[in-house]
Amino acid sequence: MSVERKPDLRIVGGHPVLDLVNTVTPRRRGGREHLTSPTALLAWSQRVGLVGAGEVRAIGAAWRARSGSAGQALHATLDVRESVYGIVAARLADPTPKPGATAAALEHLTLRWAAATARSTLVAAAHQPADVVVGTDPAFVVPDRLAFAAVELLRSVDPGHVKECPVSEGGCGWLFLDQSRNGSRRWCAMADCGAQAKARKLTARRRAARASTVRG
Ligand SMILES: [Zn+2]
Repeated sequence: MSVERKPDLRIVGGHPVLDLVNTVTPRRRGGREHLTSPTALLAWSQRVGLVGAGEVRAIGAAWRARSGSAGQALHATLDVRESVYGIVAARLADPTPKPGATAAALEHLTLRWAAATARSTLVAAAHQPADVVVGTDPAFVVPDRLAFAAVELLRSVDPGHVKECPVSEGGCGWLFLDQSRNGSRRWCAMADCGAQAKARKLTARRRAARASTVRG
């Protein structure tokens, strides 16, 4: 029996929280879920650099020691993900969204962030008077770090720099941070969605040209 190897999920968001949003392909309703289990979540977390190898072992041990905690961590992570997506998508759809448009998503994220704060601690640091260590409970390190990072991103990012791979032009709807100097990045990855859109346009042009030749 041959095992079909799934292609690796591309990491192109430019920020771990946007990469989290992009764990559904395409991003709009009905996309394929990549974080299908706590194990998949742990593998993804290590891949994007959210946790190190030692932490992966500690998290696995914590999950095994406390029944149900792995599922809770996955659930919390998906809640953070959908909250962020809801907040950003509302903004992309309308640059001045009505407060009600994001109220539910903000409330969800607030709860996750508050829980993460409760599991964090302040420590003395080398380069500043104090620092925050997020994740005193290994079982919830992943959702806690993501909730913290999400709040940091949302309160500091220039909204014009968060873009969506254009669905109306055949893109996948993934979010990414446009860090190009002139703000010209349009696609999640030119080699993927950009190239596919180009190929589709070319085919359409050729078809139109053929049709006009036949008619002519
Ligand atoms: Zn795309």
